[in-house]
Amino acid sequence: MFNAILLNKNEDGTTDARLTQLDDAQLPVDGDVTVRIDYSTINYKDGLAITGKSPVVRKWPMVPGIDGAGEVIASSHPEWKVGDAFVLNGWGVGEVHMGCLAQRARLKGEWLIPRPAGMSAKTAMAIGTAGYTAMLSAMALQEQGVSKDSGEILVTGASGGVGSVAIAILSGWGYRVVASTGKLAEADYLKSLGAADVIDRAELSAAGKPLQKERWAGVVDAVGSHTLVNALAQTRYGGVVTACGLAQGMDLPGSVAPFILRGIRLLGIDSVMAPKARRIAAWQRLATDLDAAKLDAITHEITLAEALSKARDIIEGKVRGRLVVNVNS
Ligand code: NDP
Repeated sequence: MFNAILLNKNEDGTTDARLTQLDDAQLPVDGDVTVRIDYSTINYKDGLAITGKSPVVRKWPMVPGIDGAGEVIASSHPEWKVGDAFVLNGWGVGEVHMGCLAQRARLKGEWLIPRPAGMSAKTAMAIGTAGYTAMLSAMALQEQGVSKDSGEILVTGASGGVGSVAIAILSGWGYRVVASTGKLAEADYLKSLGAADVIDRAELSAAGKPLQKERWAGVVDAVGSHTLVNALAQTRYGGVVTACGLAQGMDLPGSVAPFILRGIRLLGIDSVMAPKARRIAAWQRLATDLDAAKLDAITHEITLAEALSKARDIIEGKVRGRLVVNVNS
């Protein structure tokens, strides 16, 4: 038997989420690697799954947890053997395939990537999908030619998981980062991660003009909706905006003006189905480029039972940084 969070759908369509015990017979049969999970995490998407606020879960019952790190305990996959250390992000795990908010999981070997040498399971999950997505966004800016000399980078949803890690990465690479937050009381925290300046997200969250004063060379947006539209309208000629999130909304209520008059590039960032080579490249850079002290400052450790209440908090925007879940406590 092992401990797990289990989600069931109630008759009225709401989600029942509880800490329970499962046995190996309840693990999915469509998987060729059985793993011991040491740490998992609560991302925004896990919050949506556990609270049932959005239809993230499409198969019931479901163990949530889109991220996991631990060791292989059984494998019939040629690339994985007992004792191998892995990281798992996405691929529909915790949505349509039982996930990692549990002490055990059965996964497909093709989904796993080797945990970078020297990176603990706890560090990997402190980073999690949010941090890996921040790295995908930062790499995209760099690959599109935005250098530290190009100008300021705006990071929205700054005190959240993607935002906090994006600030740490980009400032570590020497960029001048401006953090947009609804939690101005966290300005010192954001500056300690490397933000040169902090702005009130209210400056970006309401409908604005299609073209505004040019400020940003690049943007990492985790918020969507009016915030993303205003960020596009304030991006300098030829600048690059990455979009990965929808914390404000999924809509994009803007105009084509920034694209056709300023040559702005808008890049979509997806972590869930990203190809394996891209994942490995992102995780290698996280291992070398992310300041351990900053990651510590970003991270708060919780128990498996606490994951239930923290899922609500993350959806209500009450969480700062990253929540790492010790599934054995
Ligand atoms: P968090 O909840 O940790 O952070 C989101 C942050 O957005 C909050 O901390 C808050 O920051 C800000 N925010 C919350 N509500 C609003 C609002 N109504 N208007 C404006 N800003 C708001 O989530 P994550 O960092 O884990 O994820 C961020 C987004 O990215 C989510 O939408 C998530 O689904 C998405 N995502 C997408 C991925 C992909 O593959 N495309 C992968 C990972 C995440 P503050 O208080 O500082 O303003």
